[in-house]
Amino acid sequence: MRTQAREIEAIERRVIACRRCPELVTYREEVAREKRRAYRDHEYWGKPVPAFGDPLARVVLVGLAPGAHGSNRTGRMFTGDASGEWLYRALHRAGFANQARQADRNDGMQLTDALITAAVRCAPPGNKPTPGERAACLPYLEAELAALHGVRVIVTLGKIADDSVHRIVKISGAYRTPRAAFKHGAETQIALPASPEATILASYHPSQQNTNTGVLTEAMLDAIFTRAQELAQAR
Ligand code: SF4
Repeated sequence: MRTQAREIEAIERRVIACRRCPELVTYREEVAREKRRAYRDHEYWGKPVPAFGDPLARVVLVGLAPGAHGSNRTGRMFTGDASGEWLYRALHRAGFANQARQADRNDGMQLTDALITAAVRCAPPGNKPTPGERAACLPYLEAELAALHGVRVIVTLGKIADDSVHRIVKISGAYRTPRAAFKHGAETQIALPASPEATILASYHPSQQNTNTGVLTEAMLDAIFTRAQELAQAR
């Protein structure tokens, strides 16, 4: 199991050093230099954002991409913006996080049995990575899912994350039930080489666009993590 943690660490070192997408490298560094007024005293991360959480997790959350002034600033998945506030509060209510409050990499947050990663690891302009950028970044997610043994649930936060995980299933895994169309709560049972009994559990993304309009409520997100717990513990 220590080997698994070391493998994940090695993947994250490669992620942090990556410069494969020239436009995203320029964008993430430009944002980090120019900064948002409210954060002018902050030192921005400005690099690809590594996965965060328990390297022995049975529950993996897959987001879209770092927010320009969120995790591109703090260097930790879903940290430093409104989406992260929602997500970590829900993870805390479900018992995956030791605290609800998230602020930066030194806020004391710890996850148990959950690891957060993303389809794309550099902040994209307008939160919209191109198909080429999504394809370029996919091998990192694939490598993480190959290194994590015994994953039981992959929570896909939004359609792009869902598509990325299904792409990996098509490349290196198999479907145990037909692929469910993306909608909140949709489940597809899959087998991956390192995780032969996993379920993709789709969720709407906790973006402000969804949370401010009631498309995603706290109760709906809680239902996802309650179900994730059930699936993780099922024999
Ligand atoms: S998006 Fe992924 S592949 Fe592209 S530069 Fe960032 S880490 Fe590398």
